[in-house]
Amino acid sequence: MAHVSHPSSAETIEQFERYVIGNYRRFPVSLVRGEGSHIWDAEGNRYLDLFPGWGCNVLGHCPPRVVEAVRDQVGTLIHVPNTWYMEAQGAFAQALSERSFGGQCFFCNSGAEANEAAIKLARLHGSKSNRSTIVTMTHGFHGRTYAALSATAQPKYHQGCGPMLPGFKYVPYNDLSAASDAIDDQTAAVLVEPIQGEGGINIPAPDYLAGLRKLCDDRGALLMLDEVQTGLGRTGSWFAYQHSSITPDVLTCAKALAGGVACGVMIASTAVAPSLRPGMHASTFGGNPIACRAGLATIETIEAEGLLQRGPQIGERFRTHFDRLRAERPELIREIRTRGVMIGVELSVDASPVVAGCLERRVLINATQGTVIRLLPSLTLSDEHLDEGFEVIAEVVRELRS
Ligand code: PLP
Repeated sequence: MAHVSHPSSAETIEQFERYVIGNYRRFPVSLVRGEGSHIWDAEGNRYLDLFPGWGCNVLGHCPPRVVEAVRDQVGTLIHVPNTWYMEAQGAFAQALSERSFGGQCFFCNSGAEANEAAIKLARLHGSKSNRSTIVTMTHGFHGRTYAALSATAQPKYHQGCGPMLPGFKYVPYNDLSAASDAIDDQTAAVLVEPIQGEGGINIPAPDYLAGLRKLCDDRGALLMLDEVQTGLGRTGSWFAYQHSSITPDVLTCAKALAGGVACGVMIASTAVAPSLRPGMHASTFGGNPIACRAGLATIETIEAEGLLQRGPQIGERFRTHFDRLRAERPELIREIRTRGVMIGVELSVDASPVVAGCLERRVLINATQGTVIRLLPSLTLSDEHLDEGFEVIAEVVRELRS
């Protein structure tokens, strides 16, 4: 690769301090290039990335088919509005519908936006029978825009932003009896993550989704699954609900959907989708040809490289490693939760020093909910890099005091 010179990390940080709003806590490093499971900073240091793109880079950095598809599309047609038909959006919608439950797609650019669409669709659909309440789960995460934030039953994200949008009821996750108490003839929909991601990689009981499906069917409410984080291949199937026996009425997905290119989607069953009539909802950039080509290339890569099978292998290998570490330090590791390349390790202590210690050793990981180490590695992670990354995490965990 030709040498490209970059401003130093310090120079970029200084620029941010002057010109970029400080709403993110950032690591003091400017990243300039990525390839597979590695990423490089402006000083030329290489990092092993076990949390690539906050879950967006499910194929690793710069996956070749996605790069090629975007390059090709950029030179052909960058953007046209949704007042026209376009080939790539139709093809991507068909590909997603055929790999899920035969529904119809509305495209947007992010997870929050997909959930906004779902909440609006639920209310439009429910308005025929005076239903507007949306039931969501504690420790859930649905995004930062107002309806998605109101759906997010975590008070820390609401602080100082009130009032929230009315009409949301919160119930404990993985608790069918609490859901049963909450779902009534005012309920338009239940919105739930099949596995809670930001909430700590919380995997519900095997019958949970089926139980919610039955409650929704019995009481006339829609079941809407937020698969923004679980979606597109991460858990060993295209969508996490496919490990259960049910199908949802509505599903949202973003993050991994287009291999790292901004893209969100709401898929709605053909019974529900017509409630979103022309003029009722829109997204200017939603379903643009670049994102849709990237999405098609993501699906093509997952299929061509057998990556739906690879996710569970990676998850199991991490589990085996962490089980060993737990046997060594049982006072530090409370629980290990994995489903494909969603990996959560709950510690008995603050997990942020583990993130910092790994960064010093040039391995990128995440912590959530204070005590949970979260890894969302790419489906293309090799066993060699997996083992190398685990050894670094283990070294840092061993230094912790319980
Ligand atoms: N829903 C879930 C389950 C998520 O994990 C996230 C982001 O972490 C969102 C929604 C919001 O997605 P975005 O940041 O793309 O708006």
